[in-house]
Amino acid sequence: MQPFLKKALDKESCKKFIQKNISETTNILDDFDKLKDQGGFVLAPRKSYENYTVYAVGRTNSGNAKLLFNYNPNPFPAKSFISAYVATRVLVSTLIHELIHLTKDGGSDWELAERFYKSGLDKKPPPKIEDYAPGGDKSKLTPELIYKFAADSSSYWDKHLDSACLPTDEEFKQWWQNWGLEK
Ligand SMILES: [Zn+2]
Repeated sequence: MQPFLKKALDKESCKKFIQKNISETTNILDDFDKLKDQGGFVLAPRKSYENYTVYAVGRTNSGNAKLLFNYNPNPFPAKSFISAYVATRVLVSTLIHELIHLTKDGGSDWELAERFYKSGLDKKPPPKIEDYAPGGDKSKLTPELIYKFAADSSSYWDKHLDSACLPTDEEFKQWWQNWGLEK
């Protein structure tokens, strides 16, 4: 995974995106190395209302970072097929997203959505927790509703990340074909 991650982060658009929206000094590859020395990658059971997702927990500068991957114990349904190529391409931007949460200048999906809105990167206001509370009453928020809020906040800023950092099909084809061949 690391060579692909490095190539994505070396993209001019991705470099600029992270410097401008996260911080000038963020080095995602360093965070990736720290993550491996800390909690690393952990499989976690999926709750019924969750998408197959990844959660970032802790911060690398606190020494307690880890990534939880929802795990489905059942094999893929016979007719559902996702190619290794597509899965790997998507994982590149998923990892950058999650590593941003773990960096010292990162934050929750809600905080990042707010930050992107304030910086003017998105004209549409981000989701608000009040809008998920039945009758506007936050005491009525269930784990499902909180999850929905977090997932929508995530999509809100993730689309900007994807347009800057997700390798295009053309780029990724090149990387994939040369995978393991480059010195
Ligand atoms: Zn997120």
